[in-house]
Amino acid sequence: MAYKIPLFQLNFDEDEIQAVTNTIRSKWISTGPKCEELEQQFVEMFDVNYAISMSNCTDALHLACTLCEIKPGDEVLCPSLTFAASANCIRYVGATPVFCDIVGPEDINIDPADIERKITSKTKAIIVVHMAGFPADMDKIMSIAKKHNLKVIEDACHGPLSEYKGKKLGTIGDIGCFSFFSNKNISTGEGGMMITNNEVLAKRARLLRSHGMTTMSYQRAGGHATSYDVVDLGYNYRMDDIRASIGVVQMNKLQKDLDKRVEVRKWYDEKLKSVKGVIVPFTENKEFVSNYIMPIVLKESNVEKRDQVRDKLHAAGIQTSVHYPAIHRFSIYKDYKATLPQTDYVTDNEITLPMYASLTEEDITFIVETLDTILNG
Ligand SMILES: *Cc1c(COP(=O)(O)O)cnc(C)c1O
Repeated sequence: MAYKIPLFQLNFDEDEIQAVTNTIRSKWISTGPKCEELEQQFVEMFDVNYAISMSNCTDALHLACTLCEIKPGDEVLCPSLTFAASANCIRYVGATPVFCDIVGPEDINIDPADIERKITSKTKAIIVVHMAGFPADMDKIMSIAKKHNLKVIEDACHGPLSEYKGKKLGTIGDIGCFSFFSNKNISTGEGGMMITNNEVLAKRARLLRSHGMTTMSYQRAGGHATSYDVVDLGYNYRMDDIRASIGVVQMNKLQKDLDKRVEVRKWYDEKLKSVKGVIVPFTENKEFVSNYIMPIVLKESNVEKRDQVRDKLHAAGIQTSVHYPAIHRFSIYKDYKATLPQTDYVTDNEITLPMYASLTEEDITFIVETLDTILNG
């Protein structure tokens, strides 16, 4: 069924088509100048020292865990209310994810108090996810990390150009990871980026991204690389220039796209104020954020009621989603036995409403009025 208002819409036009065409015509389609251009855009726009393009964010998160020397027997703290990759990456290096609760329905980010409670002698790192692009409490998280000598990996997939006290998300911890999956703020189909201010980590990331091979990492200027050494156990986590050329166009559009999303979020906030039975997370936030998604949480509700509300919205032509089915309830995490009351409530009662730059005020009025009628008659 075609929705009257989909959850998300690509911000693509002739420019992306032209960029792909140009890259194909250039006859260089794998990792090359377009990947470098995209990396340079990240360095400049995020005010960060190093950016390394990746085939997707899951790979970036895996490499981040490797770079932080997380090993079997170690524990890594992470939220459960996130995409599965934020926890799976911990297991790729043989370590154990320890799930932390969120603050509550008004702030659906990881709770620093629960982080502190769950630190043991085995804890090595914290993976922070900035939900919907709204920053987690980084001052508290960084001070806990400093006190206990923990690394901080920011899964900043939702928050390109979002700010926390003037700093871009992804640049506050040791490493920041981004995704260019279709429905993200920057879309290339598949793709990702790792950013860091740490030169040692950045150099090793480049090496591990390409089989641990020396010639890729040092990029001999125009020469014929006739020999190379393999000096580390790496992977093929490279992005290609076809996708990167789409990314370059998307980056040029990003600020304008995000400015429009800010406007859409304002319409939502204003109109949702008068709807009884709805909590809108992060309404207190006054900083610039990416508004990747538009989450709401139903009050005094349960999973059956939430699903009924979603069905009725769909019947009215409004597509919704749930961010997220909590990871600790998935089959492969059942044995981890996490007790997360706030996460349990939000995962059962959250609805993600449509969010993209071309939504109009009339669209938002229609969505909110439909929701109000469903909830309050
Ligand atoms: C999309 C997403 C990922 C995974 O990114 P891929 O590029 O699809 O691997 C990880 N974490 C979060 C929070 C995401 O939204």
